[in-house]
This record gives sequence, C-alpha cells and structure tokens, in this order.
Amino acid sequence: MEKLAGIIKRCVFSDEYPLNARILNLLYLVGVIVAIIAVVSRVIMGAEVLLIVCVLGIIISIIVMAYICNRFNLYDQMAIATCIIVCNILLPTMFFAAAGIDGSMSAYFTLTIFIIFLVLHGRALYIVLATHICIILLCYYINYNYPDLVIKFNMNEKYMDGIQTIFIAGFCIGLITKFQYTVYRVERDKVFKYSQEVVNQDKLLHAINEASAILLTSSEEDFVSSMSRGMEIMGLCMNVDRVYIWRNELRDGVLHYVQVFSWLGAGGASVNSVLKETGFSYLHSIPAWEERFSRGEGVNGPVRALSAEECQLLARYDVKSILVLPVFLQENFWGFVSFDDCSRERYFSAGEESMLRSGSLLLANAMMRNERLHGLALAREAALSSARAKGYFLANMSHEMRTPMNAITGMTAIAKAASDIEKKNYCLNKIEDASLHLLGVINDILDMSKIEANKFELSPVNFEFEDMLRRVVNVVNFRVDEKKQDFQVRIDKNIPAVLLGDDQRLAQVITNLLSNAIKFTPERGSVHLAARLLRQEDGLCVIQVEIRDTGIGISLEQQARLFTSFEQADSGTTRRFGGTGLGLAISKRIVEMMGGSIWIESELGKGSVFAFTIQARQGEARLRKRAGLDLSKVRALAVDDAPEIREYFREITQRIGLNCDTAAGGEEALSLLEAKGAYDICFVDYKLPGMSGMELVRRLKQDNRGKTVAVMISGADWSSIEAEAKEAGVDKFIAKPLFPSSIVDCLNETLAGGAPDDTEAAAETDCFAGRCALLAEDVEINREIVLTLLEPTKLAVDCAENGAEALRLFSAAPERYDIILMDVQMPEMDGYEATRRIRALDTPRARSVPIIAMTANVFREDVEKCLAAGMDDHVGKPLAFEEALAKLRVYLGRGPDPSKTDPGKADPGDKSGAGPSDGPDDGPDDGG
Ligand code: ADP
Repeated sequence: MEKLAGIIKRCVFSDEYPLNARILNLLYLVGVIVAIIAVVSRVIMGAEVLLIVCVLGIIISIIVMAYICNRFNLYDQMAIATCIIVCNILLPTMFFAAAGIDGSMSAYFTLTIFIIFLVLHGRALYIVLATHICIILLCYYINYNYPDLVIKFNMNEKYMDGIQTIFIAGFCIGLITKFQYTVYRVERDKVFKYSQEVVNQDKLLHAINEASAILLTSSEEDFVSSMSRGMEIMGLCMNVDRVYIWRNELRDGVLHYVQVFSWLGAGGASVNSVLKETGFSYLHSIPAWEERFSRGEGVNGPVRALSAEECQLLARYDVKSILVLPVFLQENFWGFVSFDDCSRERYFSAGEESMLRSGSLLLANAMMRNERLHGLALAREAALSSARAKGYFLANMSHEMRTPMNAITGMTAIAKAASDIEKKNYCLNKIEDASLHLLGVINDILDMSKIEANKFELSPVNFEFEDMLRRVVNVVNFRVDEKKQDFQVRIDKNIPAVLLGDDQRLAQVITNLLSNAIKFTPERGSVHLAARLLRQEDGLCVIQVEIRDTGIGISLEQQARLFTSFEQADSGTTRRFGGTGLGLAISKRIVEMMGGSIWIESELGKGSVFAFTIQARQGEARLRKRAGLDLSKVRALAVDDAPEIREYFREITQRIGLNCDTAAGGEEALSLLEAKGAYDICFVDYKLPGMSGMELVRRLKQDNRGKTVAVMISGADWSSIEAEAKEAGVDKFIAKPLFPSSIVDCLNETLAGGAPDDTEAAAETDCFAGRCALLAEDVEINREIVLTLLEPTKLAVDCAENGAEALRLFSAAPERYDIILMDVQMPEMDGYEATRRIRALDTPRARSVPIIAMTANVFREDVEKCLAAGMDDHVGKPLAFEEALAKLRVYLGRGPDPSKTDPGKADPGDKSGAGPSDGPDDGPDDGG
C-alpha cells in the first residue's frame, strides 16, 4: 500500500516527471478511482454484468496505458490515445449500459470534456473534443429516439447511481484541485530555488570577473598577492574553506601534481591543510584521477559519497565536500584546481561547476602568463645587460687601445726630439712595450670574435709540457721580478713529458691566469703554479693546472660573472689595473675545447685560486739531449732557506737521477762541505738570510779553489747582479722558478763541457749572403721594416709593390730568387693570384721556389687559403722577427745555396723534414 502511495506521489505530485506526464498520470489516477467507485457501487446495486465488466475493462486499460506511457515516456501520444479510448469508446459504451440520460452519464460527459481540456492541447485537443461532442450528441439522439437501446435502472440503481456520481465528481474535482495546488507549490519552490541559484551564479560571475580584472592587471611584482586575492574572491563567493592550484609535473617518467598556490579561508586554516609545494604522484595517491582528469571530468560532492581511496586521502585534510576541476592549456592536461568545504556536505551545482571551470582556467592562465612575463623580463634583462656589457666593453677597449697608442705616439715624439741616444733607446723600449700590449689587446679581441662566430679551433701538435710552461714563465717572469713576488712552479713528475695538444692555446690560458695573478697580487705577495696529473687512461691524460695567489681576491658575486665575455669582476678593477675582460672568457672556451673545465675559489682580500683541467693524449716522446753525462756520479748541493724549494729540489734532482744534498743556509752548507767534502756543483739561492748567497759562493770558491761549479738561483734580473756575481765566482745563473730541464741544461753546460745552445748558434750563423729574396708588399713602411730587419742577415731583397710586379720580376729571372715573401692583400693582383700564376710558370724554379705568406690575415682559414694557393708557409703580421728568421732558416738553410753553385746536385723543392709544421718550435731542443 505504502509502495503504491509512493508511486502515486512520485508520478503525480513530485517534480521528478515533467508537467504533462504528471497531468496524464493524474488523469489515470482519477480514472482508476472513478472506475473503482463505479465497480463497487454497481456490485452493490446488483447491476448488469456487462456494466461491471465494462468498468473493470476501464480499470485494466487505464493501468496498462499508465504503464506504457511512463515506461516508454510516451506521454503526448498516450494522452491522445487515452482520451480517445476513455472518452470516445468506453464512456459511450457505459452510456447505454448505465441508463443513459437517466443515469449520471451527463456528469461524466461533462467530466470528460474537462479532462480533454486538461490533458490535450493543440490540434489533438480540437479533434478529440469535436469527436467527443459528436459522440455525446449521438448518444443523446439515440437515448431519445431509440430508448430501447438503453438499459434502464430500477429505483434502487438510480439511488446508488446518484450517490456514486456525487462521490466520483467530488473525488475528481478534489484530486484535480489538490494536484493543481501541489503543482503550484512545487513550481513555486523551483522558481525560488532557481532564482536563488541565479543570484548565486551572478555573484560568482561577478567574483570571477573581479578576479580576472585583478589578475589581468597584475604586474610581476604583485603577482603572488593578486593570485591570493583572486582565489580568495572565488573561495569566499563559493563559501568554501580552501582553494588549491595543482600543476602537473613529470618526475622520473611519473606524472605528479604539485601545489603551486593555495588560499586558506578561516575555516580551512584551522584544520589540516596540504603543505605548500607538496607534490603527489597520481599513481600513488589516486590512480583513477589521472585518467579521469585527462578526460576533462572532475570530482564533485560530499567526500562520503566518493570512492574509498578518495575518502581516505581527503579525510586526512578534513575535507567534507570537494570540487576538483581539471585545467587544460592548449589542449594539454595542465593540472587542476580544487575547492574544499571543510564544514558541510554538499554538491556544487552544474552552473557553479561550469563557472568555476572558467575561473580555474583563468587562474592557470594567469600563472602561465606571469611565468612567460618573468621569462621575458629575464631575457630582456640578459639582453640589456649584454648590451650594457658590450657598450662598456667598447668603451673599455677604446681605452685599452688608446692608452698604448698614446704611449707610442708620445714616446715617438719624445724620441724624435731627443738627441741623446740613451733617451732614444729608452723611448724605443717603451714603444716596444706599448706595441706588444696593443697587439695583446687586438689578439684578445680577435680570439673573442672568433669564439662568438664559432670559428675558434685548436691545432694539436706534439709538445713538451715543461717547455711550454718555461716559455710561459719567461713571458711573465719580469713582472714577478718587478713586484718582488714569490713565484713557484710545481710540475707533477707523472705528467708525460710530451703531450699531444694545442700548446699555443694552453700557453695562452696559463699566461692569462698567471698574468692576472701577478697583476692582482701586490708586491711581495706570492703566486704559485702547480700542474698535476689527475688520471691517465689509455694514453689520455687529465691534467689539472692550478694558479694560486695572495692577491686582492674576488667576491662571490663577482665570481659568478667572471667567465662571461665582456664582463670584468668590477669596473673599478679595470680602471685600476687595465685589461679587456676577455681573457677568462677566452680561457674558458679553450679549456672546454680541450675537454676540461675552469673554476675559481677566492675570497675578497685573501687571494684567489684559478684552476682548470684539460684532457690531452700522451705524445710521441722525444728525449732531451743529455750530453753523455752520468748524473748518478755527480754530487750536488742545493742551498735555499725556503723548505718547499729544498723539497722541490730534492724531488726534481731525484727524478733526473742526480745525487743532491740540501742546506737551509750558508752555515749549514759550509758544515756539509766540511763533513762530506767538496761537491761537483752547488746551487745557491741569491737571497739567503744570514750569510748571503754571494758570500757563500765566495767562501765555496775559496775553500776548494774553484773546483765546485757555483750556480746562482734567483728570480732577480741577472744583469743587475752579474758583475758582483762574477766577481764572487758564480759560474752560472738559473732563473727562478726552477724547472727540471733548466737544472739538466745547467749540468750539461757546466759539467759535461756544455751542450751547444742551438738558438745562440743560430743567431750567430744567420747569414744569408749570396741569397736573394723577392718581397711583394704594397705598404712602404712594411717593406722598410722587412728590409731593415733583414739587413744584418745580408739577404739581398728585391721589392715588388704588388702581385703583378712580383710576377713580372720573378718571370724575368726565376733563378735569381731563393725565396718569395708574399703579402696577401695588394692592389692590382693579390698574393693568392700572384702565387698561383708563379706556380703556373713554365720553369722548374717556379714550382720549387719557397713562397711564404707575410700577412696580417692570421686565422686558420687564412693560413689554409695561402697553402691552397700554392704557398709553402705563413708568417703573421706584425712580424715577430725571431719567427721570420726561423722560417728563413728553414727554407734557406744556413750556408750559401748549394743549388746555385751546383744546380744539378740538390732539388731546392725537396723540403722534406723542413715543412711548416716542423718549424722553429721543433728545431732547437730535440735530439732524437
Ligand atoms: P683582464 O684582461 O681584464 O684581466 P680577464 O678576463 O683575464 O680580463 O679577467 C677579468 C677580471 O677578473 C679582471 O679584470 C679582474 O677583475 C678579475 N680577476 C682575474 N684574475 C684575478 C685574480 N687572480 N685576482 C683578482 N681578480 C682577478
């Protein structure tokens, strides 16, 4: 019964069904009640069986129709069908079985008309109504004209029929009125609810608008507060306690959601909330979310109604109801926004959900926009700072170039005016210094532009590591001397003697770091260089070079910018010490190209350590000539007050197999002499505390009548102490810092009768008398420089002012020339073309004569271009005289030209073993 009441309530009175369905159901209900009353009353009155069956048929057909229409949602169709069946078929049938006009049928016909109006509309209403009226008229016509066709009631039946009619009509009207009232109430509540929702949505819309305005006008600085405000506005409007923004992040291939922003209302802050920056993996928290959110579906409702996992996770944070909305940016699942209600259980309406989706998108977009703005601002700042740095760099370069130029022009003017030769020489020295400095600046700029243009390359050759370091030390030593600094060099004995690498570039890095260390270290400070072999595998060595100074140091903030091109630690430093600020950037690039890295450790005011590593293959070893001296038989003594120097001495002498004692001072040395007898060689530091080095040498020489070879070690300029030292009996002088090879050379020279110094020998024998060179050079001053520099070598030189003239001169007398020095850029015919044409001449000399490019185009591709044109070698401008001489030596030999005296004997074109790569670097010191 209860179930039946529930069904009736649901189908007729609740708003679960549309209004037309409810009206139809009402009709069915009315029909059934009427029919039941009719059946009961007919049974009581003992009516015709036909009549009772007829009414039962009505009940059954109504129930069937009600089922069909509710089951299949066929309300409109069934309404028409019902009206036709009930009004036009069943009721007329009843009319003749229920006493016609004498029964209550008139009332029922009135009721049916009313019902037709109630349930039908449109065309159906008029058609059914018209038919019904026709049928009623037909019934009345038959009733009066053919009364026998109508079954009549007896008195008892009439009595029951009257009562039944009252009940039926009463019920019908009552039910319909009740229905109408209920419908009215339900619809009124609905309207109220909807209008409430509209108000809420309007508020939410306003809130989202307000948040958008705040977020869209926010700047980068107030972005965080704008975000919080935007979330707060939405949170308060939605009456929730927390709003979180979660962003997806792929960590180790697993998708995580990470909290990027949160707003906690009063209710949200008082209970457990998710900590800032927390990240969860979808996989480990709620695996279903990843897929669900990627489909665009969210979560909405009381936590209790969610899945067990969701319940478990959310209950931890005291969430009662939640709305989670996934956010998609450019069609990618970006993350989600969650709204927590910690006090009530509720569902968020569809309108709210859809508006909050827009709100969430707005928040995520604002975040992305801010990130993009931030990126742009950073890029802009970087561009500006780079532009500033370049601007500053240009100003600095101008200063760096003008300063030596100023010295050059100033000193030239002074020299011109001076009559005194000493003064002229002084000026020339200064001009040389300034020119070399200027050349250094230009080289730095060129290197940097090559790096910027990605054209910087290395040229690996076999080189002796120690030799390379010696060359570097020679370059910087005079500054160390000037500043009286303690300069030490330590080379790990495990570093292979010969390496395969670009020694020039390596030397450039070390020179730069050493020059900086010396420059930025005050007088009497110390500068130490240490080279160590870190590891060696399959012939590949990793070498670390470390330069430590006790100079002004560099702050952490400055260190960060140090290796960037065009940046100097601080502009004040530049003003004080000069410099292009390119050295470290170039060094970094070189070191990286050598497979290593460079770094700095420094503290302001305490000094710096610059260190770098490189990778280099072990080269093909070429042993230094030992001049047949058996070092194990030599007894040596080293005297130095610095314990580390004595230690180093012991180490390097041990390395070369020399037996060496050490003493810390003059007195100790003399007592050693007394105890052990005279030494073959004695290395004495110039600056000894107590008894001076000179004094010790004097005593040594006196004691053993000059047998012991006295070698003085000093960082000081030899010339300044030469006279005193010679007078004291010093035989030889070695400059600090010490190298094993300088000790070996010294031993060779002093004990083994001396190894011939190739360089000196070379200098003495640079005589090219009887030889002739053809110089092609368009600039007069350059011609003059070459002529003047070559004058002492007695090399005859014919000059041509361009390539065409050189070609003419050579074609006229090919046999006259032993070498051609060719500038590249010349008017009329350039050096490349001239070389090509000379090589193409039909004379054997044209193919064999050495042609050397002498040009300021010094890049690798320039050199390659010269070689491709047919030249044999390349010398860069400005001319380094020694380098030019070395090339002449290679191509001309040292004696008169044998081919000239006996042309058939030697082929001048055969330069085997004397090609460009086996040039001067390899000449002086390799023996086997
Ligand atoms: P520069 O030609 O100006 O010396 P670098 O690139 O070699 O160019 O050096 C850049 C800057 O780094 C220098 O101007 C100086 O401020 C700082 N710097 C380099 N080496 C040292 C050092 N050993 N001690 C202190 N400051 C140094």
